[in-house]
Amino acid sequence: EPAHLNKEIASCVKAAVRVRPLANNEQQDLCQTCVEVQRSTNEIILANSSAFTFDHVFLPETNQEDIYRECVHDMIEGCFQGYSASILAYGQTGSGKTFTMGSGIEYMDPSKEGILPRAIMHIFQRCASYEREAEAKGIMVPKCVVSCQFIEIYNENIYDLFNKENNDFRSQKNTDKHVVFENSNGEISVTNITTRFVTTAHETLNCLREGALSRTTASTRMNSVSSRSHAIFTVNLQFERVIPSTPASTPNPSLREQIRAKIHFVDLAGSESLKRTGATGQRAKEGISINSGLLVLGNVISILGDPLKKGAHVPYRDSKLTRLLQDSLGGNSRTLMIACVSPVDRDFSETKSTLNYAQRAR
Ligand code: ADP
Ligand code: MG
Repeated sequence: EPAHLNKEIASCVKAAVRVRPLANNEQQDLCQTCVEVQRSTNEIILANSSAFTFDHVFLPETNQEDIYRECVHDMIEGCFQGYSASILAYGQTGSGKTFTMGSGIEYMDPSKEGILPRAIMHIFQRCASYEREAEAKGIMVPKCVVSCQFIEIYNENIYDLFNKENNDFRSQKNTDKHVVFENSNGEISVTNITTRFVTTAHETLNCLREGALSRTTASTRMNSVSSRSHAIFTVNLQFERVIPSTPASTPNPSLREQIRAKIHFVDLAGSESLKRTGATGQRAKEGISINSGLLVLGNVISILGDPLKKGAHVPYRDSKLTRLLQDSLGGNSRTLMIACVSPVDRDFSETKSTLNYAQRAR
């Protein structure tokens, strides 16, 4: 990797931990908890002994809005300055990844909406205010162009969640259909993936809902697939702005620059699939002993997050997931890893390995 790409990365990778509340059945079973959150020191204390420090820690009673405001809002604002972003939810199945990220499910109670619907609303509000501000200054600018893609990675194969015909996991005929490549500007894309151009938040949320539904209901799928796959919803943002003035000059409305930013919202495979042990017969048959995406992501993030490793080789190419995220992970972009954990003592060992994994991002 060129050394200049690794500049100033350390501060651009952040790790947050969210502890979910006890589920109803866990309350009925009188489950004991083993996780304590200390907001004042940003610490998570596990089983009254080990303490882990993160950039943000969230209590079981923290609501969706607080999470958005505290750690996502500024990343979306940054996209309007041209900084790409990746927001990843990590954790064992049932720890709250999909709840935290948002899946397009319509809640009776809008306060339950996760990060994605909030970010989508935010993006379109920002686009509208950008257009209004330009108009108020008498500057003609083209509208912001927003598009989205929805991809799933399962067993190192890429699937297009906007194309139902591509979603048969049993046929391996799509294996080579989607290839990750890098263009001469260093931008990463995937071949033959549907791009939806969207003009309203409502339309974008419908796309999200449609893809999320095809992720969980495709008839040929086994239930366990979605817990072992990574779902990546990507928003591409492109707009023109008048080049900001320097202290010595007034802005010249005819001097424009194109701003592009990409935001990946990633609902990662369940972290239990990172384990070598406990692989069942079915898993072995499918050739899945370990999820290489999670493994390589951990390695990539730990290099990006460690100032001592500046300039070190970053193994983006070792998995489809990290290759796909390459231009929005490190470099000139911002990354947030939200580790989701269960508070219950019977999940102790999964919680411990999740905290250890997320710790590598700092
Ligand atoms: P995962 O995607 O990690 O498998 P889910 O997001 O599906 O986990 O969460 C499992 C269950 O717990 C769901 O019913 C979800 O609504 C609930 N849940 C998770 N986190 C929270 C939370 N912070 N507050 C309320 N309910 C939650
Ligand atoms: Mg989920």
